[in-house]
Amino acid sequence: MAENLRQPMIVLPESAQRILGRDAQRLNMMAAKAVSEIIRTTLGPKGMDKMLVDSLGDVIITNDGVTILETMDIEHPAAKMIVEVAKAQEDEVGDGTTTATVLAGELLKRAEDLLDQDIHPVVIVQGYKLAAEEAMKIIDRVSSPVSVEDKRLLFKISKTSMNGRGTESGIEHLASIGVNAVLKVVNKNKADVEDIKIEKKAGGSLEDSALIDGIVLDKERVHTGMPSSINDARIALLNVALEVKEPETDAQIQITSPDQIEAFLNKEEEMIKRMVTKIKNVEATVLFCQKGIDDLAQHLLAKEGVLAIRRVKKSDMTALSRATGASIVTDIRDLKETDLGFAKIVEEKKIAGESMTFVEGCSDPKAVTILIRGGTAHVTEEAERSLKDALKVLATALSDGKVVPGGGATEIEVGIQLGKIASKMGGRAQLAIEAFAKSMDIIPRSLADNAGLNAIDLLVKAKSEHESGKHNQGIEVFSSTTKDMFELGVIEPAMVKKQAIKSASEAAMMILKIDDVIAASKISKGDMAAGMEGMGGMGGF
Ligand code: ADP
Ligand code: MG
Repeated sequence: MAENLRQPMIVLPESAQRILGRDAQRLNMMAAKAVSEIIRTTLGPKGMDKMLVDSLGDVIITNDGVTILETMDIEHPAAKMIVEVAKAQEDEVGDGTTTATVLAGELLKRAEDLLDQDIHPVVIVQGYKLAAEEAMKIIDRVSSPVSVEDKRLLFKISKTSMNGRGTESGIEHLASIGVNAVLKVVNKNKADVEDIKIEKKAGGSLEDSALIDGIVLDKERVHTGMPSSINDARIALLNVALEVKEPETDAQIQITSPDQIEAFLNKEEEMIKRMVTKIKNVEATVLFCQKGIDDLAQHLLAKEGVLAIRRVKKSDMTALSRATGASIVTDIRDLKETDLGFAKIVEEKKIAGESMTFVEGCSDPKAVTILIRGGTAHVTEEAERSLKDALKVLATALSDGKVVPGGGATEIEVGIQLGKIASKMGGRAQLAIEAFAKSMDIIPRSLADNAGLNAIDLLVKAKSEHESGKHNQGIEVFSSTTKDMFELGVIEPAMVKKQAIKSASEAAMMILKIDDVIAASKISKGDMAAGMEGMGGMGGF
């Protein structure tokens, strides 16, 4: 038995690679920092855009952190954790993805300095954890209230969240559309932004974008003989096809005489006619069908003066149902008058030369659609991304009820106050909290850097102003000075800042705690390092 024990114990397959201790930490940190370095240049209103080409060759031009990270198709496991930070941030609060990622990178960079001073990762993690908790309290203290009454303040929040996107010229307009849309659907401070439908149509300019009271579909009527507009519409929603079913593949129809063919065709026609009669009997004047409508049905519906639209998306059917109060009927034989929904007007309009259908004045006043317009598809897509963020940000601001100054002001204040806490701590924990406090500077510094300003001078100025009690001073990127961000109207939900610090520090701590990377044969130590070089290279694109 003792003999056996002397044999080496093999728990991993031979092909597996193992990286231990400082090597593991270093490689993971390098990968994570590389990712955050790439997107640091996009932070803020003067941040640059990235042009991304996905695996199918489609081009996206964006400044949106999460979009960049998702499209980059990152492979390194630690770098992926940073991408997760951005995704979590996006899901939770809708904004601050770049901030969170950049902060995570900086926290790791500063942690590395501490590791070099032989401070144990556990000590750093403890310090970071404490600092993150204190940061939450500090943010609460510097925040101000916001509610549905403060439309002007909401507009500023909306606009701040959209800054730094390629949508510059139309920002004000889109920002106010966002506020109006959220105020339409809000109920006791809770706004479900999923209720707000977004449609986009390239052509025109961003200023032509509009908030429509109702549902807009990128669809036209199936038959030009149908009316293009119907007042006081009685709306039926069907999710079955208005066509004769193709016979099952193995069904055989035995026809032995011309009479039988005619009888068979008549029977088909009969069925379609019956379906249309059913629609006529309940006096529906508009029909939205999730499936197809065949020629005969189109013709008959047109003759009855019904405006019909086919192949409506499932999500649009649900939206129509909610907006008009109609039930979606799966068997036309069951269609009853009580299944119908209502709208003041259903109308086909030409937008940029294409027909869209507007269902306005719905029985549910909360049904709204934002129709985004813009010169090209790239513009409307980026506008949609910023608008979605703005809607989420507004919902976050309302549900939490607290806002803070942007432009780095909040980060500066958190950094200063954490620094004071650290100095009272003493010992090794002090160093970690100090490192955390200093990491906060990366946000105002990057805002200034990206605007081509002298970051060091501006940061020193802002900090001394904070020390003298001016807690809202941040970086004014357009005129190279510091300003009161509340007065300037650069305002963000407190939740966005809190979540960014929370998720960034969690990711940093998680990466710090890893001292052993065991990889199945696919990733070898060499590949890991090479992968990171590749990412570092991308930083310059
Ligand atoms: P994120 O993905 O983190 O939201 P952004 O590129 O949207 O990244 O930049 C957000 C940062 O830009 C925030 O710190 C915000 O306060 C700041 N910011 C936005 N507008 C302005 C402005 N007009 N002046 C200064 N800073 C601004
Ligand atoms: Mg943003």
